[in-house]
Amino acid sequence: MSEVNSNLLKKYGEYKVCTKCKENIHISKFGIANSKRSQLRGDCKDCRKKVSTTWYNNNKESRLKSIQKWKNDNIEKVTEYNKIWVNNNRDKVRSTQKKYYYSNMDKMSIKRISRRAAVPSWLSDEMKKDIKIIYDACRMISNIECEKYHVDHIIPIKGENVSGLHVPWNLQIITAKENLSKSNKFKQEGIKLAKQ
Ligand SMILES: [Zn+2]
Repeated sequence: MSEVNSNLLKKYGEYKVCTKCKENIHISKFGIANSKRSQLRGDCKDCRKKVSTTWYNNNKESRLKSIQKWKNDNIEKVTEYNKIWVNNNRDKVRSTQKKYYYSNMDKMSIKRISRRAAVPSWLSDEMKKDIKIIYDACRMISNIECEKYHVDHIIPIKGENVSGLHVPWNLQIITAKENLSKSNKFKQEGIKLAKQ
């Protein structure tokens, strides 16, 4: 049996009832309540253990939650950082686009000529601005998401049976992958539209 301070023994006797579990337990199973070591805690060591285990488990959960929250906040920070990087490295981004342009010039010029033909004469400056915003947004998304996005004509400007226009409401930003699968699908839908 562990040693008990004789003053405590005099004060409490050998056994004491725990305030939590209501059991009559030897006083060596109670913790000291104050720095003068003259008082015992009301609840026994076993009951204290249960409380601290519960506290630890609860604390563990809240810690995990705070870690998760930090991660989420950090993702936003990383996204924000990427945006800043793109803004600060516009020359680098542009030179990459230039290289792409020159290596794909043949395909690009055909695209541009047909696009120009699809620009209606009544297109206002505001609509032109909207188109520019869509193209800028597409570049931005491609850089941030590290995946190629295309500005796509919902109704193709060089469709087999129908011709779409180069106007803001005929534009959408889709992934390059979607763009390729769409051009195959459209042939069927285009025939339906032409008959209407
Ligand atoms: Zn107890």
